[in-house]
Amino acid sequence: MIFIGVFKFASCDGCQLAFFDISDRLLKLDIKIEYFLEAQSENIFNKFDIAFVEGSISTPQQEEKIKEIRKKSKKLITIGACADSGGIQSIRNFMDYEDVLKHVYPSPEYIKSLEKSKPISDYVEVDFEIRGCPINKEQLYEVIISVLMNKTPSLPEYPVCLECKRKGNPCVLILGQPCLGSIIKAGCGAICPSFNRGCYGCFGPIENPNIDSLREIFEKHGYGNLFDSILTSFNAYNKTYREKYEKEN
Ligand code: SF4
Ligand code: SF4
Ligand code: SF4
Repeated sequence: MIFIGVFKFASCDGCQLAFFDISDRLLKLDIKIEYFLEAQSENIFNKFDIAFVEGSISTPQQEEKIKEIRKKSKKLITIGACADSGGIQSIRNFMDYEDVLKHVYPSPEYIKSLEKSKPISDYVEVDFEIRGCPINKEQLYEVIISVLMNKTPSLPEYPVCLECKRKGNPCVLILGQPCLGSIIKAGCGAICPSFNRGCYGCFGPIENPNIDSLREIFEKHGYGNLFDSILTSFNAYNKTYREKYEKEN
């Protein structure tokens, strides 16, 4: 039997819902969920074979807590864009912190927050990332089964474009809509282009994305001014984007 903990930091709770979506299948596995505040009233904070972590680190208390969770867990797996890349709340990382506080809260003096919202991997070692905003429930199931079988989870490393072409979708980028599909990791089934909308990148970047080339295409189509803001939305503080912007500025 493996012991699981599900934890939440700065997030909307949406990724944790994937556990409910596969609960009928989870009940048949040799697992015990020891800690999951959103799902059960009795929780034990002891040792875990897997800690699933949702959310970014945004407060000093969260920084301490994630270190404690890491010490108690054999594997730590992040779930979703907030935990993997800082989430939409990390847009503030590129702004003046005091200015943001002043504009968002009527009494900013009561807010005890870190200046930046950062991914879990900025604080502790992460064994595996499940991407998306929210994550795909099938990917979550694959990861749990893989840990039970002691194998590496088989999740796509290729871009959304591949899923999109397999579905036979016309390319919305060519038809005049901003679409990040060529640099974003697959896993959603290219859902946005399937409904005639561009991909806004919620699964985060593939390895070695050709960001400059896609920016040129956006510029050629007349929406180059949107590129940076779309890229740095769901996964604003992803290490790939961060390194690139820090190098450029
Ligand atoms: S990644 Fe998206 S769905 Fe998941 S917790 Fe963050 S905001 Fe919610
Ligand atoms: S619509 Fe987007 S995801 Fe689909 S092929 Fe074109 S660029 Fe790729
Ligand atoms: S198409 Fe892009 S924005 Fe839409 S769900 Fe998939 S990864 Fe997210």
